[in-house]
Amino acid sequence: MWCMGKSDYKSAFERLIGQLTKLPGIGNRSAERIAFYLLREPVEEAFELADAIRAFKTDLKVCSECGNVSEVDPCPICGDEARDGHVVLVVEQPSDIAMLEHTGSFEGKYHVLMGRLAPLDGIGPGDLNVQPLVDRIKRSHKTGGDGVIKEVILGMNPTLEGDGTALYLGEVLEQMGVKVTRLARGMPAGSTLAGLSKTVLSDAIQARQDFES
Ligand SMILES: [Zn+2]
Repeated sequence: MWCMGKSDYKSAFERLIGQLTKLPGIGNRSAERIAFYLLREPVEEAFELADAIRAFKTDLKVCSECGNVSEVDPCPICGDEARDGHVVLVVEQPSDIAMLEHTGSFEGKYHVLMGRLAPLDGIGPGDLNVQPLVDRIKRSHKTGGDGVIKEVILGMNPTLEGDGTALYLGEVLEQMGVKVTRLARGMPAGSTLAGLSKTVLSDAIQARQDFES
């Protein structure tokens, strides 16, 4: 029977801490708390977490076109020729797409930023899918046809950071000769797309406003 010696305990512990502290927002203290929590958890529970991470990375792909998370690349929305390729709605997270799709009000395509600008947390444009969006627009203008991106709707959450991100993105995109609009402000300030009802969200798409930088 193999028995874990003191040095093995230390290395397994440190290996986990080393991995956990790589995660965003997890410092040494949080990592230790998680490690001790997992130590107390039944083995199946801890393995469930490990399996979920494995399945997440094995089964999910990031769409090379829009950055959405899907089981295929390109994602079903980018691959759907019936959708309007002239309009792209930019959102912060893949979960926002699910919410917007649920309203059934939007026929165009999406782009996922994977976050929002947060200068205080050191999150700048380079940490988000901003350049891929710029490249995507340029590519579409070069290719022409049904895929030419003519309008970009900024669908950031109406929070302080969401507003800052929209302002930055609007300025970048207007220089590219595309029409920039923003989801209407029927959405309560400080709310998130995920927390809005289908009707409010549907109205926000219909009544989108011209972006003014
Ligand atoms: Zn896609």
